[in-house]
Amino acid sequence: MSEIFIGDYKAEARKAIKNEVLQRALADLQNRFGGGTALAYQKLPEGPDLRLKAHEIRAKAIANLDVLLETLADNVRKNGGQVFFAQDSHAALDYCLQIARQHNVKLAVKGKSMVSEEIGLNSHLLDNGIEVAETDLGEYIIQLAGERPSHIIAPAIHKTRKDIGRLFTDKIGISYTDDPPSLTRAARKSLREKFLAADMGFSGCNIACAETGHIVTVSNEGNIRMSTTMPRVHVAIMGMERVAARLEDHDILLRLLCRAAAAQNMGTYASYIGGPRSAKQADGPEEFHLVILDNGRSRILADEAFREMLYCIRCAACLNICPVYGKIGGHTYGHPYSGPVGAVVLPLLAGINKARHLCQGETLCGACQDACPVNIDLPRMLLALRAKLADGDPAWGVERASSSEKAVFKMWSWMIRSRPAYEFLLRMASLGQKLFPKSNGMLRRLPAPFSGWTRHRDIKPVAGESFIERWRRGL
Ligand code: SF4
Repeated sequence: MSEIFIGDYKAEARKAIKNEVLQRALADLQNRFGGGTALAYQKLPEGPDLRLKAHEIRAKAIANLDVLLETLADNVRKNGGQVFFAQDSHAALDYCLQIARQHNVKLAVKGKSMVSEEIGLNSHLLDNGIEVAETDLGEYIIQLAGERPSHIIAPAIHKTRKDIGRLFTDKIGISYTDDPPSLTRAARKSLREKFLAADMGFSGCNIACAETGHIVTVSNEGNIRMSTTMPRVHVAIMGMERVAARLEDHDILLRLLCRAAAAQNMGTYASYIGGPRSAKQADGPEEFHLVILDNGRSRILADEAFREMLYCIRCAACLNICPVYGKIGGHTYGHPYSGPVGAVVLPLLAGINKARHLCQGETLCGACQDACPVNIDLPRMLLALRAKLADGDPAWGVERASSSEKAVFKMWSWMIRSRPAYEFLLRMASLGQKLFPKSNGMLRRLPAPFSGWTRHRDIKPVAGESFIERWRRGL
């Protein structure tokens, strides 16, 4: 995969927490979508239990992935499309470039696609003399600003309308305005020119259907439909896990996806694409290519502990509810996959040691699983990643993060399983804490190695008499 920039997670997080504009934007996002998604699940005719059915559908699809992908590829080919299985990002990028060169493409348009971010498509094509214009409004803003998306569905959530007004003045030369409809009109005008001039269109794929050999893309702006039908060539890139067996399964996943992503019953534009334009059709591309990307997913598939991560349909519902994402925002994660899904998938794709802060930074509160349309047990996988960091794992190339941390937790594990040791520890803590400053009955500051606990908050002191001691003396 393209190199993942994992910066100083803690420093980035601190910066994000101090950014008042970002904090307001994140709070608005979570207020709007966090509760809205739960309500949308409640209103489903089948009720929220449809998530459990969707979990089963995804489990079955992933268990039969080899057969489903072959069926999908056969049916896309029957529809006149071409299919390429890319083992890694390099293979996918080479293929896209080769198609672009065959058609002498100078300009391509792209509908929002996280997997194209994962492989670094834009920079690769640009390095080879091909301009790629992002057409989703949020992605367009991000591309003009030269930044990375900070949310899977709402990539420019960290920008205010004033920021966008200034950016449009600088980059597309309009007079300054921060009026959203005027800014949208300006973007639309600039993008229309790109749509008309482009020879090639890229898209992602929300879910493919093996039975029918089509992919579906969902958007609220119509840009993906324009990107996939106006240029002569359409290349869709999908992670190899994004396939449903039958149309019936596909329908359930699509309904849940729209509710999870934006608390909508259905996105404004859902496009079913199964191949190039046929002789009877008025529009559509002359060529359709489907790139099915592995890029580390086979390794996830092979490990029972993490296979469930491949059920993910990248809806971002877990970001919209996560208390950690809600404070540190997407850029802290160092990649467009952020929030709880990023905290599991990035260590698996980029290296568990390299991305260790991501899985260590989550709270394990379980809100992500409750919000997930396919009921993925993200907290379990976060713990499994932490266990690998604690113990090391040659199969995943994981080096033990810290032997002193492991020793501390081993000792802790022994102490809480031994009643006399635990009670001795409590007594020591109860006596020792008298040395440290208190205010309003709370401990203000603990010394290293416990100082982190009191850096941003006061903590309750250990009770002078424990519950078990009170119990023994008959309360
Ligand atoms: S883990 Fe679940 S909630 Fe999060 S993006 Fe994936 S499908 Fe959506």
